[in-house]
Amino acid sequence: MRWEADVSLAPLTRLGVGGPTPRLARPDSEGSLRAVVQSLAGQPFLVLGGGANTLVSDAGVEVPVLILIGGFDRLELLEGEIRTGAATQIPAFVNQARQAGRDGFLFLEAVPGTIGGALRMNAGSADTGLWNRALWVEAMTPSGDTLRLTAAEAKPRYRGVDVPEEWVFLGGVFSAPAGDAEAIRKAHLERRRQKVETQVYDLPSCGSTWKNPGPPFGTAWEVVDRVGMRGARRGNALITEKHANFIANLGGARAEDVLALMIETRRRARDDLGVELEPEIRFWGFTEDELCAVGATA
Ligand SMILES: Cc1cc2nc3c(=O)[nH]c(=O)nc-3n(C[C@H](O)[C@H](O)[C@H](O)COP(=O)(O)OP(=O)(O)OC[C@H]3O[C@@H](n4cnc5c(N)ncnc54)[C@H](O)[C@@H]3O)c2cc1C
Repeated sequence: MRWEADVSLAPLTRLGVGGPTPRLARPDSEGSLRAVVQSLAGQPFLVLGGGANTLVSDAGVEVPVLILIGGFDRLELLEGEIRTGAATQIPAFVNQARQAGRDGFLFLEAVPGTIGGALRMNAGSADTGLWNRALWVEAMTPSGDTLRLTAAEAKPRYRGVDVPEEWVFLGGVFSAPAGDAEAIRKAHLERRRQKVETQVYDLPSCGSTWKNPGPPFGTAWEVVDRVGMRGARRGNALITEKHANFIANLGGARAEDVLALMIETRRRARDDLGVELEPEIRFWGFTEDELCAVGATA
């Protein structure tokens, strides 16, 4: 496996900010991934999917980064189920399901990124996520063992899953019963229309910045709005007017700008409303103090 040295991560993320990794590998098969993780012999590493939910610090990360490609980008429609690799793009997965009249993936419509990232994040809507459709998922441990997980074992929750961070998802099999193709098509188009109308697709972002705090505080965007941070700008990072839970890169934004906006929002939410906002986005390469200031646990 060829390692690339000193690779900038900004172009590999949707937000487009952040520094480099000292080493990057792009394994294209289970065998090559196993060789890579075994060569790392227990040293920490990170896996990047589409970078649609990840904020990389301006200094970058100190550890190697892996991106799954090639044989991990696959999709097979079978009776009642879809088998897919972790590198498959979520929109490609959803489009194929919709075109084949398969039911149950409306919550993933217009969600960018990969199936691997969606498994780690349990991506979806407020009340459902990809693991709800999983029959089983394959993951590789840092020692190179491959194992199968069911949802009952992975214990999915709102935007997360109880699977060790150092395990790499390889792909999975998802329940996909045939439904009313025309009704599915219409529902997907409507969902896409609503998302594009209300969320931020015309500027680079990481999607929802904060998890919804739930009752009695409502949604995260309402909290950001109530503490007067909608439209706040720091450098070229902007909390968008269109959707107050999105931070956009207006061009050349720095991770420190994004972080500053988040820290100020969180401070105001705590001081003014008594709510502890918890980030939805993942942070790479930040100090413990920075993570603590923004309320991130990892
Ligand atoms: C405009 C927009 C709209 C969005 N709408 C939604 C939405 O409706 N619902 C929603 O849930 N999210 C949404 N998101 C967020 C994002 O699309 C999802 O979280 C998506 O699942 C991220 O996938 P990714 O491959 O880009 O993950 P990345 O950002 O690359 O990674 C996210 C996390 O997953 C880990 N990871 C990635 N691949 C693997 C793997 N193979 N094995 C193990 N860990 C891995 C990474 O290490 C990281 O911790 C939105 C984002 C944007 C920009």
